[in-house]
Amino acid sequence: KPASERQRLPVVPQGIERDEFTKALAELQGQLGAEHVEINDKPLKDGWYMEHPNTHDMMTILDEEELVASAVVYPGSTEEVQQVVLWANKYRIPIFPISMGRNLGYGGAAPRVRGSVTVDLGRRMNQILDLNPEDYTCLVEPGVSFYALYEAIQAKGYGHMWIDTPDVGGGSVLGNTIDRGVGYTPYGDHWACHAGLEVVLPTGDVIRTGMGALPGSNTWQTFPYGFGPYSDGIFSQSNYGIVTKMGMTLMPNPGGYESFMYTFPKEEDLGPLMEIIRPLRISNILENVAQVRHVIQALAALGQPRSKFFTGSGPIPAEIVHTAATTATAVGDYTWAYYGMAYGPAHIRAHKLALVDAEFKRIPGARRVDPATLPADEYFWARDRIAAGVPDIHELRWVNWTPNGAHVAFSPVSPIRAADATALFALGKRAHDRYGIDFFPAFCVGLREMHLIVEIVFDRDDGAARRAALDCLRDMVDEAAALGYGEYRTHLVLMDQVAGTYSWNDGALMKFNERLKDALDPNGILAPGRCGIWPKRYRGRGWEM
Ligand code: ADP
Repeated sequence: KPASERQRLPVVPQGIERDEFTKALAELQGQLGAEHVEINDKPLKDGWYMEHPNTHDMMTILDEEELVASAVVYPGSTEEVQQVVLWANKYRIPIFPISMGRNLGYGGAAPRVRGSVTVDLGRRMNQILDLNPEDYTCLVEPGVSFYALYEAIQAKGYGHMWIDTPDVGGGSVLGNTIDRGVGYTPYGDHWACHAGLEVVLPTGDVIRTGMGALPGSNTWQTFPYGFGPYSDGIFSQSNYGIVTKMGMTLMPNPGGYESFMYTFPKEEDLGPLMEIIRPLRISNILENVAQVRHVIQALAALGQPRSKFFTGSGPIPAEIVHTAATTATAVGDYTWAYYGMAYGPAHIRAHKLALVDAEFKRIPGARRVDPATLPADEYFWARDRIAAGVPDIHELRWVNWTPNGAHVAFSPVSPIRAADATALFALGKRAHDRYGIDFFPAFCVGLREMHLIVEIVFDRDDGAARRAALDCLRDMVDEAAALGYGEYRTHLVLMDQVAGTYSWNDGALMKFNERLKDALDPNGILAPGRCGIWPKRYRGRGWEM
């Protein structure tokens, strides 16, 4: 048989015998239909972004067999999700919900505990349940991607409503939002823009949050809070429930938009640039989650391998990056680029753009790039589409930087200040130099804070490259924490470490999280270890890494 058909011995969740597990799966097949319960016994196939696997992390930073599912189940309704949860409680089997599993760079579809049964919600629960052109809201199931939502809005002729999309648009709107992902329109803070959840709790009960708790309410998607404690928060970046429906608010079409790009020549311009950005961003003259990116990413965004520019070992030298930027890119050489967008009709944009221009040009050598000079496949136009709420996948091109390219992110948050930007830049640069890795820093400026997103691109078939990437990440997390910086989100493998940095008052927050976990999930079946939260049954037994 060819390798692609050969069977692997399926992984069995810890604490259950193989025969018992086989019996349990057969029972679930009886409930959901045999075709909706798949044993993971085929060779692991990586595919690519649009045809990604749901059995493991296709961008694994550990050995590929480390974080794999024992089986994947496909519930078709909230009731079937309840059945899966009750089944998991009966057999004490860990289950791991995913919406679409395109959370690449943070673990993809992989479960935190090896041998968990992955609950792939997106395959069959992929409906837009409501699209409301009067309230500018929608209600989606886990399998609705940014592309699907965008296309549905166009198909209905609702051009007065925009969606907000992250850098790559193939992921789940719901999954991205509950993992607190961001996009680049004024609605870029996805979590802040959601309104209402339906959640299956680890014991099998179903709740609706906010106004969804009031039978017959017509404000579930327009008033997020309802009455009493605001419970939505505990279902984001956690393992307290399986979200089966989510309300999302949509942005009104602003009546015009215009992308702009400025470049700044020197590495030292970063600090002064941040001081200029902060007041403009907080006062909404800079209106969207903008990006400040290093020129090395302009090379990587060409989609060509690093070997085209440099065949030596260690980080690519700065002179080579600058020379290649001059010869190979339409924008030419610089060190930092700011990508932003102005919204509204031309006369409104003109006022804001003039203010931005005057401020940015206080930095010597600052240059406004004329978009008319840029070819259609320039990275600028990908940023233009994304900031206008049009899903895109151009961003994936930089994964070609190394053979078998995979990526994993380090993403600390800080205020928008010169001191913080330069401290984090220096920290990242030192760590990357130490491990001989090219450094790709991008600052995503929220409103009062920025996420520094550093994607490490590595060859996933090269054990030494994987190890170097992981060691570099671990160093950066610890060094950042020592300076008072924490990550906004992290990869499965780093969740314990990152959770450990949020340790104020003898780890009081984690103790609280654990109390919630034990109360809501007494058998510890739902996504054990996700975000560093371990149920009682696992705690102190060596599961952390
Ligand atoms: P995307 O395809 O948008 O990247 P994922 O499905 O990978 O989203 O979701 C990101 C992470 O959020 C998952 O790894 C999972 O841990 C968690 N998650 C996703 N969907 C749900 C859900 N419906 N209920 C609970 N947790 C979820």
